[in-house]
Amino acid sequence: AATALALTGCSGSGRGGSGDGSSASGFAKDATIGVALPTKTSENWVLAGGLFEDGLKEAGFKGDVQYAGGSGVSDQQSQIQSMITNGAKVIIIGAVDGGQLAAQAKAAHDAGATVIAYDRLILNTNDVDYYVAYDNEKVGELQGQALLDGMAKKYPGKKNFNIELFSGSPDDANSAVFFNGAMKVLEPKIKDGTLKVVSGQTEIKQTSTQGWLPANAQTRMDTLLAANYGSTELDGVLSPNDTLARAIITSVKGAGKPVPIVTGQDSEAESVKSIMAGEQYSTINKDTRNLVKQAITMVKDLQQGKKPEINDDKSYDNGKKVVPAFLLKPVIVTKENAAEAYANDPTLEPLTK
Ligand code: BGC
Repeated sequence: AATALALTGCSGSGRGGSGDGSSASGFAKDATIGVALPTKTSENWVLAGGLFEDGLKEAGFKGDVQYAGGSGVSDQQSQIQSMITNGAKVIIIGAVDGGQLAAQAKAAHDAGATVIAYDRLILNTNDVDYYVAYDNEKVGELQGQALLDGMAKKYPGKKNFNIELFSGSPDDANSAVFFNGAMKVLEPKIKDGTLKVVSGQTEIKQTSTQGWLPANAQTRMDTLLAANYGSTELDGVLSPNDTLARAIITSVKGAGKPVPIVTGQDSEAESVKSIMAGEQYSTINKDTRNLVKQAITMVKDLQQGKKPEINDDKSYDNGKKVVPAFLLKPVIVTKENAAEAYANDPTLEPLTK
């Protein structure tokens, strides 16, 4: 289980190192807590907003939950700035672009607020206090392994597989984390010839999907198929999440090809249905309810002047500091374990029947 473990001997960095403006003395029980979320590029973000509203209210706080709109980065920057102006004591941020919030994080610290990066790390600044997320590198590793396992199962006896690789939006710090995690598993198999990326596009720059938009993934898949798969079989596609997985499957079907093994992430209802129907191969369960709950637990600790519990202080280096993190454990889901994986999820469990 991904429960916290005390990292004995590593706690020296905890005190005074974070620049955390408010944890020493706590703050009022009904303080304002800002939650700045990105654009709704996947279901998890839609869920998170509602869960933060309800959870913060239930805990007695005034929640100020905002989504970045069409202008993305600049929207989010000004939303965070107004949270600071409104006296938020903690600002929880799911960044649109983790590389463009250093000024806002600094302003938050100058005003005495604590900054928590939620799901996506905030980069190149000392002014981020904590990171709460599913272990996203592990997500990538699970995706890479699922691609291999899925192809081995679907094509028994086959020794060499043709694949294509997709990654997320280049402005999301998670995209590289997912991709590198997957490539840890896939690269050795590309080197030894087991896997062939027929298009030759193996660099993250070549595989990215701007804005996490399904239309962009679909267009890229259309192009890859037209250019490389005339009479060649496509066996598998690494997809970083469910929205893109479904777009890739739509493209393949549109080209009149059999659906290959396609990975995913987020356990979106449509993808769980697709998995049960035998189309998409896998997804990842990163239950948003638990992640929001953990973020709110951090807020409650800070309110009481306590140091929030972390369980990792070495993995997530943002370029300026290693951000103390509480990481939850992602779970790979295929048709085989879906019923078990979603047993506690009233929305998804019925879809596994
Ligand atoms: C999240 C994924 C999500 C993606 C697109 C990432 O930062 O970790 O769960 O699929 O953003 O919204």
